[in-house]
Amino acid sequence: MKKEFLDRIRAEIDLDAAERNFMELKGFLYDGFTKPACVIKADGYGHGDLPLMRLYRKLGVDFFCVSNTAEALRLRDGGCTGDILILGWCCPDDADILAENDIICTVVSVENAAELSKKASKPVRVHIKANTGMNRIGLNTGDAEQCAAEAAKIAAMPNISVEGIFTHFAAADSRLEKDIAFTEEQKLKFLDAVNAAERHGLKFKQVHFLNSAATMYSYDSRSTLARLGIVLYGLRPAYSLHMPVVLEPVMSLKTVVSQVKTVHKGDSVSYGRTYVADGDRVIATVPCGYADGYPRLLSGNCEAIIRGKRAKGVGRICMDQMMFDVTKIDGVSAGDEVTLIGRDGSNTITADDLAEACGTIGYEIVCGISKRVPRVYIGGDQSDSDDE
Ligand SMILES: *Cc1c(COP(=O)(O)O)cnc(C)c1O
Repeated sequence: MKKEFLDRIRAEIDLDAAERNFMELKGFLYDGFTKPACVIKADGYGHGDLPLMRLYRKLGVDFFCVSNTAEALRLRDGGCTGDILILGWCCPDDADILAENDIICTVVSVENAAELSKKASKPVRVHIKANTGMNRIGLNTGDAEQCAAEAAKIAAMPNISVEGIFTHFAAADSRLEKDIAFTEEQKLKFLDAVNAAERHGLKFKQVHFLNSAATMYSYDSRSTLARLGIVLYGLRPAYSLHMPVVLEPVMSLKTVVSQVKTVHKGDSVSYGRTYVADGDRVIATVPCGYADGYPRLLSGNCEAIIRGKRAKGVGRICMDQMMFDVTKIDGVSAGDEVTLIGRDGSNTITADDLAEACGTIGYEIVCGISKRVPRVYIGGDQSDSDDE
């Protein structure tokens, strides 16, 4: 990428921070039972799947999770030699391509498995998804015996090689008593079904139910994998959570001041004239907007760090530009760096802060940083930087 294209805006991905997060999480997990499985679906939550895959491989990770066939193939084609599990629904038409690329797919029902088996001309590695309360995908576990019978039926199908079984918690990111109880209930339902399936003669290499939040708050060594997603990126499963580990956000979003102008009492800024100056105000414009993934919902309710100081956003956020009041910051001029997410001096704005301000979660913010924003890798091994 030519330097001048990076000057407008860039998402800096700090591979050293990613490494420190991983080591911290690995230390938290280490008991010899549960192995980290790095969830790098959705292009590594917007951070770039291949550079992260290479980093985690170097750190000894041999299990990765993605959400669909295309993402799995990207990892394989990108040189990933570890296990790759597709967590979501896999189209049975993909059977052979999954088998050829040694990708593990998820089956969600007996019918789904039957179709996969029918379409496969060679063995496909499979994990069975068990539904314990998300009510999204998976075999129902309300009746452990019935679930076990279904799992056994799947395992007996031609060209289906069942290696694992897993479930997903609905409320592991909440510390409310009722949610903690629900997570526990899900876990028991799941383990009952797994035990019943084992009595039916099934053997699972992997039995797993921990996501980031469950790893942090409901750790259980009976899960052979911890499917770590959001925490790898240094964000929190939920804003109000106190994290038992020290994590650093991996992504920063940086842009630049394009122009500085002074407006006067009664002048408005941006579409809809929602902001009207009540006196002389110095306004800095920056070339980042909602098309870059900065939420328009934050119009009038956002901040940037410029020259180490916080500046308030004013007026509507446009598709490609937004404005900040820099009246109280000395000497702001065109070309100054603007931090929208990240740290500058003693000030920090996180993706979680943005999410909290617009009623969503940090996941959506980082996943939403659009593809026109170049990802620039810092730290780590610089040979990781040259990606498509
Ligand atoms: C995305 C996903 C995860 C990772 O979730 P985090 O909250 O980011 O840790 C784990 N398991 C499944 C099934 C997922 O879909």
